[in-house]
Amino acid sequence: MIESDETNEAVDSRAERLAANWRAVREDIALAARNAGRDPAEVRLVAVSKRHPASDIAALARAGQVDFGENYVQEVASKQEELQNLPVHWHFIGGLQSNKAKFVAGRFELIHSVDSLKLARVLHNKSQSLGCTQSMLLQVSLCGEEQKCGVEPDALDALVEEVLGLEHLRLCGLMTMPFAGDDPEAVRPVFARLRSLRDGLEQRFGVSLPELSMGMTGDFVQAVEEGATLVRIGTRIFGPRL
Ligand SMILES: *Cc1c(COP(=O)(O)O)cnc(C)c1O
Repeated sequence: MIESDETNEAVDSRAERLAANWRAVREDIALAARNAGRDPAEVRLVAVSKRHPASDIAALARAGQVDFGENYVQEVASKQEELQNLPVHWHFIGGLQSNKAKFVAGRFELIHSVDSLKLARVLHNKSQSLGCTQSMLLQVSLCGEEQKCGVEPDALDALVEEVLGLEHLRLCGLMTMPFAGDDPEAVRPVFARLRSLRDGLEQRFGVSLPELSMGMTGDFVQAVEEGATLVRIGTRIFGPRL
């Protein structure tokens, strides 16, 4: 198919804008890391591409981005198929029901959003039947009294105990998603809390849980300063979602 020059120009300028946004975010991440006395290489940027087209992912992959985060099983399936020849790592970061978990197992570098034993067991059993080990994080609910957005902190030990017994799952750390308010400093204590929960688990269970997935467009600087190893950034790179 022959595309008009106009279309190609629009595609090229979109790709350039994405790459420029991406470079700026990477610089901000590196700056935040150095300010906190950390090595910028400890922080991986997960570009959250949900509701943006596969062509955006391809453009960023050409610029050098490797890790992409998606939330919706249906949407990611078609993107994975379209982009199967690109060397990208897929992260599943969205809410996951047990009935969809079967699809997700084995198709993602890392699943960030495991929040129940039921879900963990489905992922484990599917991974076992595929003969693979699925890397995953437990999503911890630190978003306030009433809301539940993951495992409650006081239920974490019991869940970790069970998950560590599932040999086709590799527990790599914790994830949280606080409410995005206007003031990113307000969520800094939440990030610090996730890190200290992780530290406690490592001590009590004698395991290494290196990954802390925390920080989004509005608060990734604070998250990096508090120890994030994975930041999940969408809007700042891609603009508003469709
Ligand atoms: C959409 C989403 C993000 C990205 O949010 P932005 O504010 O656009 O950076 C990060 N994490 C999760 C779990 C998301 O659902």
